[in-house]
Amino acid sequence: MNRYWENLGNRIRHLLSGGLINILALADPQDAQPDTATNAANPPPTPFSFSAADWHTAGASPLNLMRGSNTATHYLGLDEWGELKTGRCTWDKVPARPFESTISGRVFAPIAQWSTQTLFKTNADVHLQNGDKCTIGQFVIAKHGDANFGGTVTARVEEILQLQGSPSERSGMPDFILIRIAASDHADDIYRMPQLSLKNQYYLVEFKDVLCTVNVQHNCSANSCTTAKTRPVFQEREITESVRDAVHHVGAPFDLVLNTAQMRDAIHVQQFRVPCVVLDEVAEERIIEASVRREIDVRKVRSAAKAVQAAAGGTANKRAGAPAHPQRLRVLKESGSARGK
Ligand SMILES: [Zn+2]
Repeated sequence: MNRYWENLGNRIRHLLSGGLINILALADPQDAQPDTATNAANPPPTPFSFSAADWHTAGASPLNLMRGSNTATHYLGLDEWGELKTGRCTWDKVPARPFESTISGRVFAPIAQWSTQTLFKTNADVHLQNGDKCTIGQFVIAKHGDANFGGTVTARVEEILQLQGSPSERSGMPDFILIRIAASDHADDIYRMPQLSLKNQYYLVEFKDVLCTVNVQHNCSANSCTTAKTRPVFQEREITESVRDAVHHVGAPFDLVLNTAQMRDAIHVQQFRVPCVVLDEVAEERIIEASVRREIDVRKVRSAAKAVQAAAGGTANKRAGAPAHPQRLRVLKESGSARGK
């Protein structure tokens, strides 16, 4: 019984923290009385669902209840767990100003609905719907409805705007996010990942249209970046005099590639993946043959080393300073020359 209430409490906490729950699994297996010994030994597995329709979370009102600390968060032990940060932005401390004094105002012509009396606040960062903290200059994937209906684009966040006095501003959320398109239609041959190039195309999008942040890396190969002993070594949190290698980026700082190998938000990122090279039959056979040959060689080396060890007997094992490694190397060389004959 205690376990039942404990599970229920965990489920409520999970739901109210914005987690999803599979409604098929809601029937508690404890409720079903096992009628035979066989059933008790093999409890039915929890039905997992691959259908998005079976996964539900709490509605907007219960989730809003969890913002900040209150009696409900106190009862559920979610006070110190942290407030729901989705949509929260951090004011950059620049006083509110008319649209034309913002970066967006310099990009776009004056917008009729906003007079000079309408003031805008700008922000240093915003927490996206997936929890990512997105700062100015961060590359993101955003929904872009106009030219690319239903599709997504890669872009850089340029400005996070709040209309002073708007409902969004009162709840600490942004009204608009200025994004600059970073085209990803050209693949880099070395990394086999999309190259990003910033375009003179800007859009004011809503908060919900910015889906996730993405990882971008400098195109070190094309710019011939090198390593240099520049990174200080820390010991016990103290900086030491030793330095270790760090990449020294040179060339164009905005020659970037989109890291499509990132695991988080793969559902959005994978759409930008560069397709793999399809191997022809000859190449495929050559790779398989080389892999099989290497595997056989490794096994030969292992069994030969064992045979040598067995022949040498127990006394050889005790001989000081007789490492097994050179022995294995010799066997590997022998097997290599034997194959060559
Ligand atoms: Zn570099």
